[in-house]
Amino acid sequence: MSILSKIAAAVALVLALAAGPCLAKAPKPAQLTLLISIDAFRADYLDRGVTPNLSALAAGGARAAMRPSFPSKTFPNHYALVTGLRPDRNGIVANNMIDEAIPGVKFGMSNDAAVKDRRWWDQAEPIWVTAERAGIVTGTMFWPGSEANTHGFRPHYAPHFDMQVASQERVDQLLSWFDKPPAERPRFATLYFDVVDTAGHRSGPDSPGVNAAAAQVDAAIGRLEAGLKARGIVANIVVVADHGMAATSDERRVFIDDLIAKDAYRALDMGPIGTIYPNPGREAEVAKALVGAHPHLDCWLKQDIPERFHYGHNPRVAPIFCLPQTGWLLTTHEARPHEGVTGDHGYDNMSPEMAAVFVANGPAFRHGVVLKSFDNVDVYPLLARLVGVTPQPNDGNLADLAPALAH
Ligand code: AMP
Ligand code: ZN
Ligand code: ZN
Repeated sequence: MSILSKIAAAVALVLALAAGPCLAKAPKPAQLTLLISIDAFRADYLDRGVTPNLSALAAGGARAAMRPSFPSKTFPNHYALVTGLRPDRNGIVANNMIDEAIPGVKFGMSNDAAVKDRRWWDQAEPIWVTAERAGIVTGTMFWPGSEANTHGFRPHYAPHFDMQVASQERVDQLLSWFDKPPAERPRFATLYFDVVDTAGHRSGPDSPGVNAAAAQVDAAIGRLEAGLKARGIVANIVVVADHGMAATSDERRVFIDDLIAKDAYRALDMGPIGTIYPNPGREAEVAKALVGAHPHLDCWLKQDIPERFHYGHNPRVAPIFCLPQTGWLLTTHEARPHEGVTGDHGYDNMSPEMAAVFVANGPAFRHGVVLKSFDNVDVYPLLARLVGVTPQPNDGNLADLAPALAH
């Protein structure tokens, strides 16, 4: 051994000894990445004092007000979160869609056959597909897209969506997967709650109903944490919402039938967004009647949708897309108005009312970090890193989340 290699060996030994106690103190690596969605949990709900478990997770980890992708609807954003692609590129451009390449079908959240049909989902690859392909067991305690055989893969555990399953029951079902033999336990799982969204639609974001629903979900998360602890499972937990919630009212309505003849068009979506299909031969008439027609409504030909929305290139985007001002609704005189304040989303993804909660906690995260606002597509590269898979090409940027990462 030369004198130089003897010095190198001695230095290595000293470094190893120095690292020893440090390594002993290093946190246990996580066995599980858990992605929890609380539908329509607006970013500021976290500060209402009704969610002690979530607040503790945020204090011991990272939090942010996250920007949803446009349109700020449920299916497009859930798919953006698990693919890193904005709706225009992930193929789920709205909750309701048609596609000339899938003739005769109207995609909708309650169309079971469509929700299970991979042709709607195959434009992107959700993280559970990438993980399963790599031999990693995954489970989805509900998530849009999880019921389709996307790219030929499904999560190992993927129960059929059922709104009737109570929040706590969802937690118990998820926990039961960790009572399986070790090789069958998920290393990536999702969990989804819808009660906060339902309450927000019914009585608006500032209602006692929303606070009660938030508290109910928070209790379910507490139960989940206790269940994981009892099983000795260390997890990186990422809590997100798909979008926020804006108060709507009978006074803030734009009546499409005041602008355009009923027989000139078909609408797939109305309300916080309008997806308008002119009837054959009526294209110019419909465009003229809607574009620039109302002070509280923007309508564009799909090719003219402003760049910042990153929307309009996908063949599934409607030929005319309308966006009411946040808090306004596009409707008809026929539609019966709700009584009093209600809530909705789908609006401009830059509106503060659409901001979604983000909380991350676990050995991968630093404590007490408040991140600057970031786009929800950034969650995907984070998940890929936590799960240990190579991310597919995506619109996200992990650098936005770097200040939250422990290493
Ligand atoms: P939105 O109309 O955008 O507010 O969507 C919220 C609703 O989406 C919830 O109330 C659920 O009923 C529904 N939903 C959420 N996840 C799923 C799913 N995986 N399959 C079917 N419907 C779902
Ligand atoms: Zn939603
Ligand atoms: Zn909703």
